[in-house]
Amino acid sequence: MQALLFISLAILVFLVVRMLLNIIVEARAKNNPAGENAQLESQNMVRCAHCGIHLPQSEAYFDGRHTYCSEGHLRKGPKDAPNSSYNDVDED
Ligand SMILES: [Zn+2]
Repeated sequence: MQALLFISLAILVFLVVRMLLNIIVEARAKNNPAGENAQLESQNMVRCAHCGIHLPQSEAYFDGRHTYCSEGHLRKGPKDAPNSSYNDVDED
């Protein structure tokens, strides 16, 4: 009879511990609302249409269609566009 009491007590303790762990995990998730999403958004990378390097979107120059790493490349326009209105002479 004592063994049965011990087993039911063990099950009860197990359930209580599991419930407490669930509460702790949920509390942590609430304390950090969308923290990971905000980090991902701030690291959104774009590609320079002229030289192809990647940079954070917040530092990029945007001409309405393409993104660039610098004002100079913004003026030169995209390198891979054959019908570019910017006729840039190759440096070599
Ligand atoms: Zn560039």
